Amino acid sequence: MASNGYRNGNKGAIKPLSASSNVRSSSFKSRLPPSSNHSSGSAPRRTSSAGAGGDAVPGRVRVAVRLRPRNAEESIADADFADCVELQPELKRLKLRKNNWESETYEFDGVLTEFASQKRVYEVVAKPVVESVLDGYNGTVMAYGQTGTGKTFTLGKLGEEDTSARGIMVRSMEEILANVSPEMDSVSVSYLQLYMETIQDLLDPTNDNISIVEDPRTGDVSLPGATHVEIRDEQSFLEILKLGEAHRIAANTKLNTESSRSHAILMVHIKRSVLGEEVSIPSETDKSSHFVKPPKPLVRKSKLVLVDLAGSERVQKSGSEGHMLEEAKSINLSLSALGKCINALAENSAHVPIRDSKLTRLLRDSFGGTARTSLIVTIGPSPRHRGETASTILFGQRAMKVENMLKIKEEFDYKSLSRRLEIQLDKLIAENERQQKAFDDEVERINLEAQNRVSEAERNFTDALEKERLKCQMEYMESVKMLEEKMIENQRKHGWDGFRKDKCNGEGPGSSNAKDIAEVKKLLEKETHMRKEAEKEVIKLKSQLGQGTEAGAGVDAEILKLQIALEDEVLQKRKLEEEIVILRSQMLQLTFEADQMRRCLSRGGPGNAYTGLDSPMSQVSDNGHKTPVSSLFDQAVGVQKVLELLESEDANVRIHAVKVVANLAAEEANQERIVEAGGLTSLLMLLRSYEDEVVRRVAAGAIANLAMNEANQELIMLQGGISLLSITASDAEDPQTLRMVAGAIANLCGNDKLQATLRSEGGIKALLGMVRCGHPDVLSQVARGIANFAKCESRASTNGIRSGRSLLIDEGALPWIVQNANNDAAPIRRHIELALCHLAQHEVNAKDMINGGALWELVRITRDCSREDIRSLARRTLNSSLVFRAEMRRLRIEL
Ligand code: ADP
Ligand code: MG
Repeated sequence: MASNGYRNGNKGAIKPLSASSNVRSSSFKSRLPPSSNHSSGSAPRRTSSAGAGGDAVPGRVRVAVRLRPRNAEESIADADFADCVELQPELKRLKLRKNNWESETYEFDGVLTEFASQKRVYEVVAKPVVESVLDGYNGTVMAYGQTGTGKTFTLGKLGEEDTSARGIMVRSMEEILANVSPEMDSVSVSYLQLYMETIQDLLDPTNDNISIVEDPRTGDVSLPGATHVEIRDEQSFLEILKLGEAHRIAANTKLNTESSRSHAILMVHIKRSVLGEEVSIPSETDKSSHFVKPPKPLVRKSKLVLVDLAGSERVQKSGSEGHMLEEAKSINLSLSALGKCINALAENSAHVPIRDSKLTRLLRDSFGGTARTSLIVTIGPSPRHRGETASTILFGQRAMKVENMLKIKEEFDYKSLSRRLEIQLDKLIAENERQQKAFDDEVERINLEAQNRVSEAERNFTDALEKERLKCQMEYMESVKMLEEKMIENQRKHGWDGFRKDKCNGEGPGSSNAKDIAEVKKLLEKETHMRKEAEKEVIKLKSQLGQGTEAGAGVDAEILKLQIALEDEVLQKRKLEEEIVILRSQMLQLTFEADQMRRCLSRGGPGNAYTGLDSPMSQVSDNGHKTPVSSLFDQAVGVQKVLELLESEDANVRIHAVKVVANLAAEEANQERIVEAGGLTSLLMLLRSYEDEVVRRVAAGAIANLAMNEANQELIMLQGGISLLSITASDAEDPQTLRMVAGAIANLCGNDKLQATLRSEGGIKALLGMVRCGHPDVLSQVARGIANFAKCESRASTNGIRSGRSLLIDEGALPWIVQNANNDAAPIRRHIELALCHLAQHEVNAKDMINGGALWELVRITRDCSREDIRSLARRTLNSSLVFRAEMRRLRIEL
């Protein structure tokens, strides 16, 4: 109804037709920012069923009117008549002539004259809607008017030949494509025809009955059965439009109808990705740091619906008389339903008959919904169609009253959200990895630094220790030097004669020595005193401990403390005792060395601390008294104590003790006591648990000294000494160690009772093995051993105790004997010469000796030997042997 419209009668007064028509903006455009709450007019707000929402924006349906220019026919037929309308575009008014003197004035949102360009029409009618659609609102542009007034021209003109002729569809798509991102957004179209309440797919003619689906929750309307074609560029869109048009013509031909009877609906679906706002959330653990939630990825789905409605003329007038009434009814059903809905909406009626037709169902969002809607009403100029024109104008006027609530429809874009979160997660993982690496590097760096510091400290400590050691050594050397100087001075003071006199008189050591001893004694007394003090302290502590215990449970801590202190004291005491022993031993050693030196000076020959192999060193003085060393030793230390020290945990103590034992063992008088006290066993143990070359050498030396005594020799054998000496013989490298071992075995070789055992336990082999060393001292001991052995064998044979070939020959000693019989070193030569003589005394050896070249050596001995006794022994021996004599005869050798 146009009841609300002000008809501009003669009065010429112009009143707005609708409440909203007071918006007199110069442009049709009344675009609102999507999020603003700005009201576009004072019209009462209508809350649509589909579009109610907090951020909904009121937006009235905009209506423009377009006048088609006269066509050729009208120019001729109506030549004498004025147009039925008069346009006042600058005032946005249209005057509809009733007759020559009466007209009605209507106001529109836009008034487009017959001269309006297609571009201008687009900008006034469609552009604001397209922009809204790009912002996420739904939009509708609809053309309403009598057939032939230019609806299709306005909306669907392709303008392929003349760009300026392009209609709203092409221009809208052009604008959309220019504004969306091909990567992020998508644009697709469906193109439909609604004819006789049937929706046909213009992009797929076989799909000719598409149903409308409404979302009961949101009220959204969709056509899931329709073909959607993705649009990438304008050209493809033009192809789609052409295809749709072709199908429309084909369909209408088939149905024997015209396009003017059907509604053409182009739907452009736009999906755009947008980012929501970043949200900053305080983290649970740290109030100061904020976790920034990534912007919500949203997708805005909007729809632009462009509707080229069927002609609005009444059936009887449009020359459709030939059609069935039912069809005519159907054709108009949708259109009249649209009119009814718009009326109801315009009048704020409680009931809007949306469900009456498919068109109104499809367009429910366009009128009274959430879409921005523009309506262009097209009219012709012909006065003959004045009635139709008037009804078209009134339709437009009513539509202007329809208020929509524009609303953006946003949805979470879950795919995009997960994509974004994945990217963020990857970033965080990478960052975490970087941090972890940095942390590991830091830990490594700190470790390295700590290691460096530790090794530096160790180095410093070692340096300090070394310095300390050197210092001690220096001090020790100093004191030895001092002692020597003192001794020489004493000798000088008392004179050489005095010394001799002392010795001859048998009054023991000289007064200088007595002084030394007195000093040592003093020292010992001091040490003993210290020890007593320590013992007293221990007793005191013990009694304190006893008191503490009596004091009861309350003093437990005190007791514990005392216990610890006591343990400390005991430890200290033990250490002190050990130190005392060491000091005493050291003193003993010094005294011993001084003694030796003195002896050497008096004898005029070199001395050796613990040999005694070649000429066993007896320290028993002429009158049978003990030497000062021995007696001092008895007083100060005691054999037992020193032997205990052989097993001390301190390696230095052990070395020292073994030296002392070796020195003592060099004195025949001590040997028995050492063996009795288990010293031999201890020394053998030391040999077995080899750990230090010095210890082994000295221990072997001590054993060698002990082995001078016949009784000890048997003990050594009994305690497995031979095999131990053999092991040492085979793995020692040091010539002095080997010399001691060879010396010990050589001594054992001189024992008649041990011959067989010695051989069976590998003694001979071990002895011969040591010649590998090549050192004359070692060779000399080997030669002595061989001589000893040969002598015993010879004796046994002579006594009839043994028979058969010499074990030495059995063991393969002969080649070495022959080889060394004329050795440059006199001791070696002498021992071997003797050995050869002993071996030659028994016929049983003669053949082997001849074969081994020993005869030549014996002959040489009879001629060259420096010692007369050996020369004659050799001669006697050769002469007394039948075999040798025969051989000498054969060789024409004469002695
Ligand atoms: P409708 O779709 O409303 O039936 P059309 O768009 O088919 O009308 O137009 C009918 C005729 O009028 C067409 O030949 C068209 O080219 C012409 N026409 C319509 N509007 C205009 C205009 N504004 N300027 C020039 N010619 C027009
Ligand atoms: Mg048309």
